[in-house]
Amino acid sequence: MFKNRPLKKLFFDTDEFKKKYHYDGELGAFVKDGCATFKIWAPTASNVVLNLYGSGSEGKPYKNIDMRFCDNGIWSHTEEGAAGKYYTYTVTTHLGTQITADPYAKGAGLNGERSMAIDLSLTNPEGWEEDKAFRTGIKSYSEAIIGEVHVRDFSNKIANSEYKGKYLAFTENGLTNKSGIPVGIDYLKKLGITHVHLLPVYDYATVNEAEPDSQFNWGYDPKNYNVPEGSYSTDPYHGEVRVKEFKKMVLALHNAGIGVIMDVVYNHTYETNSSFNKTVPDYYYRHNADGSLSNASYCGNDTASERYMYGKFMTDSVLYWANEYHIDGFRFDLMGLHDLATMQKIEKALHSVKPDALIYGEGWVMGDTIDGSPQANQLNISKIVPTGEAVGGIAVFNDVIRDGLKGSVFNKTEGGYINGAPSSNIEKIMFGMSGGSRGGQPWSAENNMVINYMSAHDNHTLWDKLAITNPESSDEERLKMNLLGASIVILSKGTPFMQAGEEMLRTKHGEDNSYKSGDEINNIDWDSLSPNSLAYRAMMYYKGLFAIRRAYNIFTAQNVEIGFTELAGGALAAEYCRDGITEATVILNPTKSVLNYTLKKPMRLLANGSKAGKRTLSTDEGEIKVPALTAYVYIS
Ligand code: CA
Repeated sequence: MFKNRPLKKLFFDTDEFKKKYHYDGELGAFVKDGCATFKIWAPTASNVVLNLYGSGSEGKPYKNIDMRFCDNGIWSHTEEGAAGKYYTYTVTTHLGTQITADPYAKGAGLNGERSMAIDLSLTNPEGWEEDKAFRTGIKSYSEAIIGEVHVRDFSNKIANSEYKGKYLAFTENGLTNKSGIPVGIDYLKKLGITHVHLLPVYDYATVNEAEPDSQFNWGYDPKNYNVPEGSYSTDPYHGEVRVKEFKKMVLALHNAGIGVIMDVVYNHTYETNSSFNKTVPDYYYRHNADGSLSNASYCGNDTASERYMYGKFMTDSVLYWANEYHIDGFRFDLMGLHDLATMQKIEKALHSVKPDALIYGEGWVMGDTIDGSPQANQLNISKIVPTGEAVGGIAVFNDVIRDGLKGSVFNKTEGGYINGAPSSNIEKIMFGMSGGSRGGQPWSAENNMVINYMSAHDNHTLWDKLAITNPESSDEERLKMNLLGASIVILSKGTPFMQAGEEMLRTKHGEDNSYKSGDEINNIDWDSLSPNSLAYRAMMYYKGLFAIRRAYNIFTAQNVEIGFTELAGGALAAEYCRDGITEATVILNPTKSVLNYTLKKPMRLLANGSKAGKRTLSTDEGEIKVPALTAYVYIS
């Protein structure tokens, strides 16, 4: 113990500290036979008191217990009858005495203020044991098709949903919109995506769980990393409810054949005075040379993945969600801030238990904030070695194709390949279609490990961006641009990804940062789908493109080369070749006039700008004409 002694940041990095205090065992609260054992790592604390409560939100503790300081900086206590009870710790450090939730909490009461010694064995829905064996069946990252969904956006505007905005909305079959078209999970099942990627569903801070309708947030403000968010449950007061309902959501998605990916935000916490900092001040965060907090995340407190116990926390957390909640993949927010060694450890740990798990993240190159350790960004990610039978290593988002397709997210009026500036963006399109491997710096090229996309929760929706960049265009013309872009993303090497609703021309009414904009802006408008509506036509086209990708492995196999021929005005022919034979040809016409092209052999047309799918539209040979703003997709 280090009573009343201010700690210099380097102290944690001394061999003495590492040898004495690094701990490899389990942390948190463990329940057995009604007893609960509590273990918290707080090597620099001079005192830790366990406070037990009967309620997750009200009243005083029914008991306060001095914890015992053990080896490795662990404070421990076992208490009879504490299973299912709520708890906090009163921790005394050089910062003073503060009450904190358990950083390793697996359950929590209202707003995550009190942790819960939850008996997880009582939280499993019927069929959960069998669900452990669920696999998406993908054999490579290329075989995944990902839709990014916010729990609340997804169902808030489904009139006949009993659980609008909640986890349980994913369990509701038979939901329809006002035109009688299936929506909700029935819709997802038919769309053809393989994975749903959920925006943060761990406990985040900003939405008051007692009045969830009064606020909205995406959830990039983490509070309890290992507890489900309470505002998506039907009862945020009782800690077991959110856990049960979360599991029911996963089970329902799995029963629909869809994998579940979590968005994880380990790079910063909601507040600096977090449970981490109250427990071991300064340890979990990066500091600049002058002692101030590192702020590459622009959230004020970059965490320190390179510190052993935080790297362990991240690894434990990912494994916990994968094992306890059967999660099938993880998307790392600002992954470029994490050190490569920790991401490799996570890859190894996760792929050892779930070889088909997807791991990907924002690999932006964001400045060197770690002394001497490479960061897990686009420049370094190819150094991650896939473990054993893993479907791949770790993928990064492809902002080159994102901005190349529709213009930079940092310049709202700038267009891209599909919306007015094809020639100047053709290199970016070829880079993207090749899976991020064409010339220059490869991004895990050998496995096509790149997440291709036009829209995500950040920035304008695709439909809004097209309206801003092309105000003179008709809706019909913008639809053509949209579907041209979708053809490129969905038929590129790598993993296609989209924000939910992109396929039905989702709008946020011009708002480009809707993280707290409320339901009206963020809701998915399911009623936009009606027979022959623009949104419906778009959705059917996306569905057809997904079907093509899933039916022909020339679009997903590893041993495929794409040969490009640049045509007039930025048009492009992409020939997908395997063993020297062209099996697919995609002709992109981003210009506003008809493109003449000569097919070298008879090929079957599967997509022509108005129809897409596995069905052959025509068999063509020789001279063909590709209409303006259209992609033709041929298969041999
Ligand atoms: Ca919360």
